[in-house]
Amino acid sequence: LRFRDYELNEDIIKALDVLKYETPTEVQSKVIPVALQQKDLIVKSQTGSGKTAAYGIPVCDLVDWAENKPQALILTPTRELAMQVKEDITNIGRFKRVKAVALFGKQPFAPQKIELTQKTHVVVGTPGRVFDHIERGTLPLNRIKYLIIDEADEMLSMGFIEQIEKIIKQLPKERVTCVFSATLPEVIKNLCRKYMSDPTEIEI
Ligand code: AMP
Repeated sequence: LRFRDYELNEDIIKALDVLKYETPTEVQSKVIPVALQQKDLIVKSQTGSGKTAAYGIPVCDLVDWAENKPQALILTPTRELAMQVKEDITNIGRFKRVKAVALFGKQPFAPQKIELTQKTHVVVGTPGRVFDHIERGTLPLNRIKYLIIDEADEMLSMGFIEQIEKIIKQLPKERVTCVFSATLPEVIKNLCRKYMSDPTEIEI
């Protein structure tokens, strides 16, 4: 199976060609068809498996370019991962002109705030700084349709679960939620039970 066999926008296919992504990795081949149907997902997979593109491709494909407010929120445990994911999304969404913004701490607030006033399709960030923006009213959430929690088990070990719950409670109920994690401890399973509807479970 090749990327061309999925019902993806021509702009996305072209970007994958440029990235030299020819065939989907295992996690991508399992996740992309389900994600394109906009179903909640719990994915157990390791880093290095191509998981970023597994959600990045459907997110870039599904966002509506004409909408100015953020439509996808991707939460990551670390700044480094937030930057990497932003870059991957920007590359995959290059020809569709998908605009991604990264929000993380130990950076001045003002430039992030200004970026958010411009057209933004995808917000990638760490829970602390994302919550800061929500509290200050600089991150509009009323158009968010996709929530991705990446490295959920890392989030747990870094003590971010409470903050993630506070963020989820602010999001529109009509949305798709995807959780990616290398392991699925009980706390993560509970979070999924609480905030997802009939999720598809994928194990790699
Ligand atoms: P990740 O697990 O998301 O950190 O991805 C691991 C690496 O695999 C990254 O360097 C990606 O650019 C690369 N990658 C992801 N998907 C593909 C693919 N379908 N074909 C080739 N390389 C890929």
